[in-house]
Order: sequence, then structure tokens, then C-alpha cells
Amino acid sequence: MDLGIKGKKAVVCAASKGLGKGSALALAREGVDLVINSRTEETLEATADEIRKETGANVVAVACDITTPEGRAAVLEAAGDVDILVNNAGGPPPGNFRDWTPEDWHKALNANMITPIELIKATVDGMIDRKFGRVVNITSAAVKSPIPILGLSNGARTGLTGFIAGLSRETVAHNVTINGLLPGPFDTDRLRGNLKLQAEKAGKSYDEFAASQAAVNPAGRFGNADEFGAFCAFMCSAHAGFMTGQNIVLDGGAYRGTL
Ligand code: NAP
Repeated sequence: MDLGIKGKKAVVCAASKGLGKGSALALAREGVDLVINSRTEETLEATADEIRKETGANVVAVACDITTPEGRAAVLEAAGDVDILVNNAGGPPPGNFRDWTPEDWHKALNANMITPIELIKATVDGMIDRKFGRVVNITSAAVKSPIPILGLSNGARTGLTGFIAGLSRETVAHNVTINGLLPGPFDTDRLRGNLKLQAEKAGKSYDEFAASQAAVNPAGRFGNADEFGAFCAFMCSAHAGFMTGQNIVLDGGAYRGTL
């Protein structure tokens, strides 16, 4: 299926690894020009090279922290007119809310709510003028089914989702859609790091613990970044103009609600 976005310009944030990289690669396979970002220059450049080699796409790499005003300005300057925006950043740490200070909350809100809103603010009017725009916010399945130790994430990402629920209805008449893509467990560095810590606490080997966690998912496995990216690319496609304000859970069926 041709997604109809060849030659469009996409900004994919936090894209040197994991779900951001999967999304960037899937868009590049569709002939989209990319600006990708993450903080570590070496990893980012290696990813940009890998994407160029596989797809032949134009890829500009901007190494910076997307949660800072300077970082966002650098990415936006490199991009020019943005047709597709994939918002992503690292997730807040786990913990107990009794230990969190207002500063911890501000950090989580900045990374996982205000940063995507700032990037949308900078790009959405241009998308409206050009009558095409796709915004995908990578959030978390925790938006639908909160994870107790990830309270900072549950709170900040749900705040973003509530804001988008309103804005996305204002933009869709201009063929500008804004949706959330909500990962459950995906086999990325982040998941592997979390599993390693939990395995150590449980006194188990990584492989044994990871296999037990994968087995409790209805799919019997974790997701992979390629299948996440393919979904993201479809949500950014020319065919997806009638879907806005939605929150698509990709979790192998782990969320047990009927709807
Ligand atoms: P990952 O494999 O650890 O990759 C994270 C990427 O984000 C890296 O490229 C990292 O590069 C970049 N990054 C982190 N902080 C950044 C910042 N401030 N500015 C720019 N780039 C930044 O993580 P992932 O699994 O793909 O997760 C992506 C998002 O999905 C996270 O918010 C995570 O909480 C959420 N999520 C993931 C899962 C899962 O199972 N994987 C489930 C639910 C939600 P640098 O470190 O070099 O900046």
C-alpha cells in the first residue's frame, strides 16, 4: 500500500533508538524526508546513516535535548515546513508519589506534556495553511490503564491526551490530524533496562524474567519497534485524514477492556 506521503517532511523526536527510530525508519521507507533528534550525537548519527543506507531518504540529524526551548528551536530550524510531527521523549522515572517534589512533577510535565504541545504550537498553523498535517504523540498504554509506580508518566501523559482531545477537533477540518499512539511492552533499550532491574530484585536471570513477562501478554511476546513504526507511518499517511483525537493502544491485547 502506498501511504501517499512521499516527499513530505517529518520531524521525529527522540529517534536514535527504540520506538522513535522504528517510526523514523517506517516513514523513510515511504519516501518521507526526515529530521531526527536525540541527545547523544554518536548514536543519532549512526541511526541517521543506517536509515539513509536502507531507504535512500534525506535524513538530517539534530543532536539536542528536545525538552529544552533551545533543542526545539534547533530541530524546527533544521526542518523548515513540517508536514508530519512525531512527538516522543524519554519517560519519567518510576517511584512513589510521596517522594516526589513539585520539581519532579514539573520535569515530567515538561518532557511529556509541554514539549509536545510546544512543538505542535510551532507547526500546526503551517500544516493548516498547507492543508496537510499529521501529528502522532507517542505516549503510553498507561494513559488508558495506569501503572502505579509510573505516576509521573500516568499524570503527564494523560494531561497531554486531554489537551489533544480538544485541539484535534479544531484542526481536522484542515486535514490536520492529531492522535496518540500508546505502546504497551515493546522490546527496546528502555524495556530491557527496566526488566534488568526487576530481574535483579527478583533474584532471577534476565532471560528467565523477560520470558516470564512476555508470556503474560496475550500475544505471548513483546512488541518490536518495526511494528510500532508501521502503525505510526499509517497514522501519518494520506489515508488517515478522518481519524483524529484517538488513542490507539498497541499492547498485544494486554489492556483487557472490551472497548
Ligand atoms: P528507548 O529505546 O530508551 O529510546 C529512547 C530514545 O529517546 C533514544 O533515542 C534517546 O536518545 C531519546 N531521548 C530520550 N530523552 C530525550 C530527550 N530529552 N531529548 C531527545 N531525545 C531523547 O525508549 P523507547 O522504549 O523507545 O521509549 C520511547 C517512549 O515511549 C518513552 O517515553 C517511553 O516511556 C515510552 N514507552 C515505552 C514503552 C516500551 O515498552 N518500550 C512502553 C510505554 C511507553 P538519547 O538518550 O541519546 O537522548
